[in-house]
Amino acid sequence: MDHQTQENIYLSIVIPLYNEEDNVDVLIDTIIQNVLPLKVSYEIILVDDGSSDNTWNKIRQYSAPVKGVKLARNFGHQHALLAGLSESKGDAIISMDGDMQHPPSLIEKLVEKHKEGYLVVNTYRNDAHVASYFKRKTSSMFYKCFSFLTDVSMAPGTSDFRLLDKIVLKELLKLKAQDLFLRGAVEWLGFESVTIPYVAGERFSGVSKYPLSKMLNFAKGSIISFSTKPLAIGVWLGVFTSALAFLEIIYIIYQVLIGETVAGWASTVGIISFLFGVLFIMLGIIGSYLARIHVALQNRPRFIVEEITEKKDV
Ligand code: UDP
Ligand code: MG
Repeated sequence: MDHQTQENIYLSIVIPLYNEEDNVDVLIDTIIQNVLPLKVSYEIILVDDGSSDNTWNKIRQYSAPVKGVKLARNFGHQHALLAGLSESKGDAIISMDGDMQHPPSLIEKLVEKHKEGYLVVNTYRNDAHVASYFKRKTSSMFYKCFSFLTDVSMAPGTSDFRLLDKIVLKELLKLKAQDLFLRGAVEWLGFESVTIPYVAGERFSGVSKYPLSKMLNFAKGSIISFSTKPLAIGVWLGVFTSALAFLEIIYIIYQVLIGETVAGWASTVGIISFLFGVLFIMLGIIGSYLARIHVALQNRPRFIVEEITEKKDV
């Protein structure tokens, strides 16, 4: 058997798992099948993101090249991924989902591009046949908003299925932002990248761990972690609404001058409610940033590792 030492691992494959007990075996099998022909030394890092099912028990049965990292509780997909990335020793690091939606058969192409010299190999998901119309539309709207608000341009169909060179990973791990949005961060770092398309598979087992509420939070968090433009929008909303109010005052004065009374309280109430609406939105946005600062000041770690299993099969 080959005696890989930890120091000369070429490929790390990092996968966050949250209640994926029935996906662990097929995932590891398929990855190994796809990596063996490449004849490279590798490790598979499975991060159990506080699962309440048997995911960890499944993971811990495996030995090297599989390495299990158990987080103390559910820290969320991005943080679990970060935990796995921090543990990886490879020259090239691939991150992917654990539900087989990111096909392990693409690993070969990712590695090929890395060997050609690319430091970042992104993937582009064509999921017209697996994702719902709603999910595709909201995801594409999100990326448009994100690009507009953050000046970091990202194409729809981007996910955390990608390969990073260890040079890029080193820089990525220097970013200490809470709730770091990894996709945006990699783009923001700016290393030259290449994108390869793939057809997304169906989830092998279980259900999506990203319900709408989590998706919305994720969208909000990632924009706020990258941009202060939403705060500036307040200024423009203020200018716009006060311009409207100003026009209305002129209109009222004019009506009074020509001897007409301006009819009704409905318009007044309407305008006041509108302005209050705008005000509350802006307060909410400011509050979100304040919350960010608050959390950042606490300087808490982004994940807590409870246990690492890496049995050597000697
Ligand atoms: N995941 C995680 N922690 C979470 C939510 C999800 O580690 O809190 C993992 C999940 O197990 C999967 C990957 O993140 O491996 C992507 O999640 P999912 O497939 O549910 O997202 P979707 O494909 O539906 O967007
Ligand atoms: Mg999935």
